[in-house]
Amino acid sequence: MIKDNAGELMMIDGETIVIKDGKPYETEGIKIYEVVRVIGGKPLFLKEHIERLENSFKVLNMGVPQKIKNLGHEIHEFVRQARIVNGNVKIICDGIGGADNRTIIYETVSRYPDRTLYEKGVAVVTLEKSRTSPGAKTMEDDLRMHADNKKKEKNAYEVILVDGQGNMTEGSRSNIFFFKDGILHTAPLDKVLPGITRMKVFEFCAKKGIEVKVHPIKRNELANFDGAFLTGTSINMLPVKSIDGIVYPVSGFAVELPAQFEKHMIVDVLNA
Ligand code: PLP
Repeated sequence: MIKDNAGELMMIDGETIVIKDGKPYETEGIKIYEVVRVIGGKPLFLKEHIERLENSFKVLNMGVPQKIKNLGHEIHEFVRQARIVNGNVKIICDGIGGADNRTIIYETVSRYPDRTLYEKGVAVVTLEKSRTSPGAKTMEDDLRMHADNKKKEKNAYEVILVDGQGNMTEGSRSNIFFFKDGILHTAPLDKVLPGITRMKVFEFCAKKGIEVKVHPIKRNELANFDGAFLTGTSINMLPVKSIDGIVYPVSGFAVELPAQFEKHMIVDVLNA
């Protein structure tokens, strides 16, 4: 069920409709989705999002629907029709694997962190759960519910998933990087969603000569790190101030790197 629409229009398989009386819109079956940020009327990293959407079908051993070929054009057209200047657009492919599969595009409620959170960092907690197919961006309502409950209960900004081997993998809506002595550490791709922002952090670090080590990171190693960052489409790179009560100082590298990364992303946006 779609309850997070922020506008009145919705595009279904290329056709624009008006959502009636704000009624929640039903979606069916297995759902693959993407959230694309729009800045200045321009959908960001659209090519990367469409590639990841296609990859989600492949990860689930499902054929990529023909209609996806037109998606880039449809998203541009939807942003134009809905007059979105700054916001987030969600794309849901529902009923996948069945004859009634659809591609739905709408403006979703966007939550960008307050500036103070980039200065003070956010509290996160762990949850011993994993997504069924980490490489695919699918809606897992049960996991989402557990994560949201834990966040509420612990008054945390995000929940980090811990797998059966005690590895910290990814956030419920973000990727996570740790750092120690100016070197970043993050979980391998077979354990996480290939975040677009995660990928941009790799590109940024390569440019800056900052080393990024990719390896499993155990929950019991948390105290060995100097700090951590969450990454995602709406948050960019956000410093973490604590994980399960283990406190990281939010100063120096912890605030400078996200600020530099944001500048890098703005340059990327302007040049795209
Ligand atoms: N991991 C998960 C499970 C997510 O749901 C998300 C975003 O929603 C991310 C990572 C971050 O991905 P991106 O940087 O593409 O927003």
